[in-house]
Amino acid sequence: MSSPVVTRFAPSPTGYLHIGGARTALFNWLFARHFGGTFRLRIEDTDRQRSTEDAIEKIFEGMRWLGLDWDGDVVFQFSRAALHAAAARRLIDEGKAYYCYCTPEELTAMREEARAKGLPPRYNGYWRDRDPAEAPPGVSPAVRLKSPREGETVVQDLVQGEVRFSNTELDDMILLRSDGTPTYMLSVVVDDHDMGITHVIRGDDHLTNSARQSQLYMALGWEIPAFAHIPLIHGPDGAKLSKRHGALGVDAYRDLGYLPEAMRNYLLRLGWSHGDDEIISTAQAIEWFGVESIGRSPARFDFAKLDNLNGHYLREADNHRLTGLVAAELVKDLGHALSDDVIRRIEVCMDGLKSRAKTLVQLVDSSKFLAAQRPLALDPKAEKMLAAGAPGRDRLAALRGAIADLDSFSAPQIEGAARGLAEATGDKLGDYAQPLRAALSGSTVSPPIFEVAEALGRDEALGRIADVLGR
Ligand code: GLU
Repeated sequence: MSSPVVTRFAPSPTGYLHIGGARTALFNWLFARHFGGTFRLRIEDTDRQRSTEDAIEKIFEGMRWLGLDWDGDVVFQFSRAALHAAAARRLIDEGKAYYCYCTPEELTAMREEARAKGLPPRYNGYWRDRDPAEAPPGVSPAVRLKSPREGETVVQDLVQGEVRFSNTELDDMILLRSDGTPTYMLSVVVDDHDMGITHVIRGDDHLTNSARQSQLYMALGWEIPAFAHIPLIHGPDGAKLSKRHGALGVDAYRDLGYLPEAMRNYLLRLGWSHGDDEIISTAQAIEWFGVESIGRSPARFDFAKLDNLNGHYLREADNHRLTGLVAAELVKDLGHALSDDVIRRIEVCMDGLKSRAKTLVQLVDSSKFLAAQRPLALDPKAEKMLAAGAPGRDRLAALRGAIADLDSFSAPQIEGAARGLAEATGDKLGDYAQPLRAALSGSTVSPPIFEVAEALGRDEALGRIADVLGR
């Protein structure tokens, strides 16, 4: 690449950072990092009614959580409105834009007339060549671009190829509204130019905008950036993405228990591929990413795939880090701090815990028994196994006798004791392990139970058993 790559993510802060936006941000970030370029963040806050501080904060939070660091200061588009207006005035001075004095009523009439003739509703260029001296009094004009009337505007898209628009389809767009505020079309072009953006990677709902923006670049005499339009994300049924099918904010994915690295991998695969590779680390993604491997058809969102990827990244994740994440959730859940001993237990059992979880929520859930205070609540299956008269209860009592005075309360010793009993009675190891599991975890599923017993320690483990047998 000849000039250094500069990309940007330019969200409008009118709601949460949704999954499509996050993918756009990721692609721009990867592209910049791949080329050792620059990735900028621009908040398009020109819609003063709909832009909120809360949404801006959510965007920052979401980007930080996803690990998409941006370079330089955040650009707030609204703060640059004077520069946008100046560009429009330059075009007026150069005869490339003009004042349009049409009233809203006239514009409505114009659209209706076009519709009646079966034409798309477009501005008919009424003030394009008219003498401003004819301007009606008391009407503040909008500024429109004198766009080419004949020929075609061609967008050379890095994903979609060459996309042609007949200029008769593109009317003279408004650059400044009659109240003097710049339109999105003008602001984006001026900002992208001033920020030195070389590549605009965004959703393909912006494709027509790119044709209009190209006309504006040409009028301003500026170089047009390269465009790459990514197909939108669809639901698993191929229809537009709905909330139920994943059209959620990035914060919702965090709350559902997905790890940022799993999200990055998943979002990457939503529309980009590298052979049949499914698991692609971020480092690998930076090395491999390019717009030429972005697919041309809409990607389908699939929670099952995301869950599988997340399970993979959970297993890969460092136990100490996971323990911190789990502990933070447990504190919220239990409403009190965790003792160092409880945190140690969780970390010791983490291999067993994470191998069974697909999400952090499941991991937290399956860790709860380690933090629970005695006496434990038993789930119905555990209850049944340890009920009065049940064989599991007698076996638990026998096992208690065999482990109470072990020299070292370690997993191999505890398991050895259970094995010894099973051999002596002709039962299976599980006949002793399951009642122990029920007593120590309150349920019939847990990480390897002898390890759990060791992690709980002699006093806590025997205490939990005594609680059950004392009932
Ligand atoms: N602010 C626009 C949006 O949220 C994106 C503009 C752009 O990427 O050019 O859709």
